[in-house]
Amino acid sequence: MASRIAAGEVVERPASVVKELMENSLDAGATEIFVWLEKSGTAAIRITDNGEGMTPEDLALAVERHATSKLKADDDLFRIATLGFRGEALPSIGSIAKMAISSRPASSLSGAKLSVDGGKKGEVHAAAAGLGTTIEIRDIFYNTPARRKFLKAPATELSHVCDVVNRLALANPQVHFRLQHDGRTVADYVAVKQERDRLQQVLGIDVAKSLKPFSSSQGELTVSGFLSTAPTSYPNARYLFTFVNRRYVRDKVLTHAVLQGYDTLLMKGQYPAVVLFLEIPYAEVDVNVHPAKYEVRFRRQSEVHEAVSRSIRSALQRDAREPGGFAQADRLATPSHQWRPNYSHPSSISLAVGEGSLGYNTGGVTSAQMLRRGGGMFPVPTVEGQHRVGFFSSLTLHDQILGCYLVCTATDRMILIDQHAAHERIAFEKLRRQLQADAVERQDLLIPQTVEISAGEHLMLEQKLDVLERHGFTLEPFGPSSYAITSVPALLPEGDYTQLVRQMVAELAEVDTSARLRQHLEDRLATMACHSVIRANRKLESEEMIALLRDLDQVEFATQCPHGRPVLVELSRDELERMFKRIL
Ligand code: ADP
Ligand code: MG
Repeated sequence: MASRIAAGEVVERPASVVKELMENSLDAGATEIFVWLEKSGTAAIRITDNGEGMTPEDLALAVERHATSKLKADDDLFRIATLGFRGEALPSIGSIAKMAISSRPASSLSGAKLSVDGGKKGEVHAAAAGLGTTIEIRDIFYNTPARRKFLKAPATELSHVCDVVNRLALANPQVHFRLQHDGRTVADYVAVKQERDRLQQVLGIDVAKSLKPFSSSQGELTVSGFLSTAPTSYPNARYLFTFVNRRYVRDKVLTHAVLQGYDTLLMKGQYPAVVLFLEIPYAEVDVNVHPAKYEVRFRRQSEVHEAVSRSIRSALQRDAREPGGFAQADRLATPSHQWRPNYSHPSSISLAVGEGSLGYNTGGVTSAQMLRRGGGMFPVPTVEGQHRVGFFSSLTLHDQILGCYLVCTATDRMILIDQHAAHERIAFEKLRRQLQADAVERQDLLIPQTVEISAGEHLMLEQKLDVLERHGFTLEPFGPSSYAITSVPALLPEGDYTQLVRQMVAELAEVDTSARLRQHLEDRLATMACHSVIRANRKLESEEMIALLRDLDQVEFATQCPHGRPVLVELSRDELERMFKRIL
């Protein structure tokens, strides 16, 4: 058995010790796990749990290499349900630090204690111990100075420990976690029944508030969790958590699937906040590929990818149909102060947020004044049957201001719409729909435009003419080294199309898989759509504004332009009242 388990370093830094020990506590069924650190864990780490504990015999065995109580049969290695299974953590930790374990199972009245010092195992002896297990680690790397040197600044090591605690806490809301550092409480997450409450404890109220639940299953796969919807986004993946059977993983396939689910809803370089739980039969996933088990391998990788990105996408689609609607219903309960993570050092507070909120605070006064100014009020008429009666059509439209924003209100909020972003999204979605239906509307050019093609491109282009055709471009051979563009997508503005065709040809040459081709052509479409729309600073007639709102109801993801900029910003009654200090 031992030889079939991937070997490798488990202990890199204090946070890796904390991770292994806390995972053992969870595997032991603990509902309370308390962690004490001295000097960011470099001086001491103590972890106490109320799990099932160990008998003196278990204890002696626990620190032996490849002794694990968690795999009973050989086959178990292919169905791993526990967080640990290698039997490596305790002996590895014992070899690079001074370790003392005391434990008492429910079946016994007295406890037992065992020390391991730099790999030297002591005797098990009787000792007073509470129910469960306490493990104390002192002087990590004291006998391997070279590795001690690799430790980072104390604040960095502590923030790694915080990350570990937070990830385990997100996956186990029913467990009470407490982290104390040099006598101060860094995090105290009491057990909660609702996953949502745990989000608030771990991520803070602002991030948690922006998250919406989602869930979908397909056969034996279940994808669920919470995600941020437009326009919230962050400049890094700090709030992107993926769990496989409640094990935190950093998996490229999952992350890619999540981002693909967001598709054009995010600006380049922006990330969503997502807490994703994938439940998958144990036999379908190999967790034995990385010593710290941060990576996994799926037996059917592309199916997992597809299921995850579809799940995210449909949750976002559902949300985009009703922007604003959730904000009221989903408001979180006021947090009790102990739920807040209160990091005691600056490096983990600066969670790189900042983006996301749309500057409600700064623009507040002027928006309110704008509202009062209110131009001619005309509710937007809706044409039943022909159009879906949607969110945008239901708004009361006041006026266009500053040459590019439509001021609207609903019963309990005011909404500003960026007409340029709105037009972009509409044009983009129209083109995309036509493309997907293989029905791109085209218009013939009065005077065909010619593109010069190199000898190498010639052959390739010949094979790809149908792809261009599908995108609305008809090309006909014209002389030995050029083609004539005879028709283009009707949604494109007039102009010089040769450049565009040349770019598409270059892309066709580069892109191999059809999925990537689709992505590229959609990017291209987004750019095309943006050039085809009304630029900002044009006065719109009221009929044009009404048509715009109605069109927005017809498209998916109406809340973001194809480059991920928001189409609308909202100020709820709550937010207005807070701005004016009517409520605090
Ligand atoms: P693994 O978790 O891979 O089994 P470890 O070296 O982490 O290996 O732990 C070895 C064994 O010690 C575990 O299989 C378990 O039986 C026991 N053990 C470790 N920590 C605890 C704990 N907190 N409570 C109960 N048993 C524990
Ligand atoms: Mg373990």
